[in-house]
Amino acid sequence: MASNTASDKLSAPCSGNCPVDPAEVTSDNGMTILLDNISVTVTRDDILERIEHSPERRPSERVLSHIDSCLSRYQGLISARGAYAVRTIEGNDGRSLTLSGGIHFDAWNLALAFRGCTNAAVFIVTIGDAIEQEASRLMNQGHGIQGYILDAIGSCAAESAADGLQAELEKVAGNRNQAITLRYSPGYCGWDIVEQKLLFQAIDASRVGVSLTDSCLMLPRKSISAIVGMGEPGVVAEAPCPCEQCDNDSCPARRMPRRE
Ligand code: SF4
Repeated sequence: MASNTASDKLSAPCSGNCPVDPAEVTSDNGMTILLDNISVTVTRDDILERIEHSPERRPSERVLSHIDSCLSRYQGLISARGAYAVRTIEGNDGRSLTLSGGIHFDAWNLALAFRGCTNAAVFIVTIGDAIEQEASRLMNQGHGIQGYILDAIGSCAAESAADGLQAELEKVAGNRNQAITLRYSPGYCGWDIVEQKLLFQAIDASRVGVSLTDSCLMLPRKSISAIVGMGEPGVVAEAPCPCEQCDNDSCPARRMPRRE
């Protein structure tokens, strides 16, 4: 995922310790806004879903014990923070999207989902690299299950942080009498992962300590980048869903049937 992980879930808001009052954010010029101390929650069910454990087959007590043990310590291994930048949408030709600053995404899914939107918010969240280092240490010392579980917890924590930042963007949009779309990430839904590089031009990722490798991998690995559209609530509610035109029949995240 771009995450390194991504989804379209909406959930927990951030902790409220954000240094910027969303009501004061009016700039559409791509100014990078930082959010510290994003609240993160990971549950046992999140982990079981992440490791694709079948609901019909209860995990062994040993595995459950490892999960609970890792859950009891993960908060001390993460530091969730993020940043976002709101830009004006200067063009949408139905196949691609152009943001202020000449940032041009060749992404049909964005063009479709952001139809009628006037703005877009690019964001990046990370939980830092301590948890992945600890997971690697455990694996290298022969504690493969614990390392694997801790790594899965890190992925879930990054998703939770992205949910929190997305909830913050809902507030920002609400203060502008706007609503936001679902979030989309390079590498998903037919959006070429290479455009991660363009997304990183739309925001100052160094402010949140995230960098991009030549192969478009974010570092720290437990980071998520995404974009949401912003527009009048009625327009956003009526925006088409890319799933209607997507031919990925095996996608587990499909939100509606493909239109024939
Ligand atoms: S079906 Fe899956 S891959 Fe296709 S647009 Fe929907 S969520 Fe994305």
